[in-house]
This record gives sequence, structure tokens and C-alpha cells, in this order.
Amino acid sequence: MRAVVFERYGEAAEVREVADPRPAEHGVVVRVAATGLCRSDWHGWQGHDPDITLPHVPGHELAGVVEAVGPRVTGWRPGDRVTVPFVCACGTCPACAAGQQQVCERQTQPGFTHWGSFAQYVALDHADVNLVAVPDGMSFATAASLGCRFATAFRAVVQQGRVAAGEWVAVHGCGGVGLSAVMIAAAAGARVVAVDVAPGALDLARKFGAVHCVDATRTADPAQAVRELTAGGAHLSLDALGSPATCAASVNGLRRRGRHVQVGLLPSADGTTPVPMARALALELELLGSHGMAAHAYPEMLGLVCAGVLRPDLLVTATIPLDAAPDALAAMGTPAASGAGVTVIEPWS
Ligand SMILES: [Zn+2]
Ligand SMILES: [Zn+2]
Repeated sequence: MRAVVFERYGEAAEVREVADPRPAEHGVVVRVAATGLCRSDWHGWQGHDPDITLPHVPGHELAGVVEAVGPRVTGWRPGDRVTVPFVCACGTCPACAAGQQQVCERQTQPGFTHWGSFAQYVALDHADVNLVAVPDGMSFATAASLGCRFATAFRAVVQQGRVAAGEWVAVHGCGGVGLSAVMIAAAAGARVVAVDVAPGALDLARKFGAVHCVDATRTADPAQAVRELTAGGAHLSLDALGSPATCAASVNGLRRRGRHVQVGLLPSADGTTPVPMARALALELELLGSHGMAAHAYPEMLGLVCAGVLRPDLLVTATIPLDAAPDALAAMGTPAASGAGVTVIEPWS
């Protein structure tokens, strides 16, 4: 098969022929119809993810058709249209037994712990736990955009963030996850303030339901801007980018007893990020993490997508062939990429 491979961190990836994957006993191989390009892929390529070993094939937001099935898989057959959460769970550890597969103790992640979906085929583990059927009528490009950013945003806003109609919700960083969060919060009846450094990203945020936009390059203190626009601060605020600055701005933009949800990855040399804990204490803030979404939680989100309440298809702004993926991966590191919407790779086009 053809795949996007990199041999060294930060050096240009290339498209080349590699061996086709084979399914594990409990796994499947999926023929990849569409796979989203995500900032997490860029972080992995830069060497920020300790799970990756070289050479490596990125890609974790995929949809396609089951090609081959391991002997212990009972629920899926070749020809099934499927997608998958980026956190693939083991199905048997204590977290999985409690229904919290998104924080599985033995999780695998295509494109991180093993070769991913910037390829014509990808192997996925524990298929009976992790595969999600793509509804009839939903395109593979739309389904691919659910697997990471949209599902992640859905869990962050609805489940971890407990959004309620009429609340103020601030979204810091309007890339794929942030724009998804804007749309999901607005659909829930919240009033959304979007914050970004890219005018194009803010234009999209407004289109997807933000009532106020803050250009972080034009204000000395985005958190103060959020507090002023929301008469005292947001009830719920997300750092959808993942940086010390956006994390702090999200916490500092909350009102009393507000909820901060960390969605963006926070890679750093020593693995820690400063958080304004004095404000968390004084205002009784809640600080929450959100990490993907379990396969069994997809039906609520898929129902809203099929009903047209949520429109992840609108987030897909570009579709490219595999040969264009290495350059597109490199471009994810620039701030301008956050204003460009979601790029989907079609490995067979
Ligand atoms: Zn598990
Ligand atoms: Zn992703």
C-alpha cells in the first residue's frame, strides 16, 4: 500500500510503498476512505509524543470500509462502513469496565502507538469495543472529521463541560476542535465567545454561531476581553489550542465557580504547564481534562449530526490526495493553519 512515512522528527515525510497491515486476532484492517489532518499529527511529527517510534505513519481521524477481520471479532464484517475514536480501548481494564474507554489503561492510538491512517489501509485493535458504524448518507469525509476533533469537542462541551442553555462559553483557539466546540455549544443554546489570533478562524467561528469574537493579537489581555463581553466571565471555557497562554487565558476568563476544560494538548519539555491556581481557589473554579470520547457515546452525537443540528461537514474546507499530505502536515505548524478549517486526505484519490 501507499503511505505517508517519516524517518526522523521534523524532517519531510514522504509517500512510499510499504507492506499492507494485517488484522490482530481482535482487530480489523480498514481500507481508508478519508482521514483528517490534525495538529496532533504535527506534534507527533515534531517528536512531542513519546508513544511514537520511527519510522512512522501518522493519522488518527479516519473513516473507511472494513477490509479484513481477525478471528475473534464478532460484530463486524468486511464491507462495513466504520469510523473509530482516536483512543482505541482494550475493553477489559478497570476504566473500560466502568464505561470510561476514553481513558483506557491499555489504550492504543492509530498514528501514535502504531502506524496510522495516512495510508491506504490501517489496522485497528479491539474492533468490537472501538468501531462505530457510519450512518447511511454520511460521507466518509464527514465521518473522518468526527473521530478526533468533533467527538473530542462534543465530550468537552457536553459531558465534561456540562454546557447549559443561556450560559456564556469561551473557546480559546478556533482550529478544528475549537470550531467544533463553538458549533456544539451554540447548538446547545449557549452564548459563545471565540478567541483566536487568525481573522479567518474568527470568521468561521462567527459563521458557526459565536456571538462575540476576540482577536488575541489586538488585545493585551484576551481573558479580560472575555470577562467584559460576558459581564464577569464565562461559565464554561475551553483551551482548544493547548498552550500556556491559552490555558491561562481560559482559566482567567471564567466567572465564579466556572468550569475550565483543557482540550488542546499541552506538550512541553518538562511535561508541566503553569495554571493560575490562585484564581481557581478564590473563585472555586473547576479544572477539567477531556480526552476523546468512547465509541459507545457516539450515538447521541451521530443523532444530532444526522438531524442536521450539528454540521461537522461544514468544517471540512479542503480535500487532498495522499501525495499532498506531507506538505499539508508541515503547514499545520503555522498559526494560519488554524483559520483554514479541516483538511481531509483521501488516500485512494
Ligand atoms: Zn481498557
Ligand atoms: Zn486529531
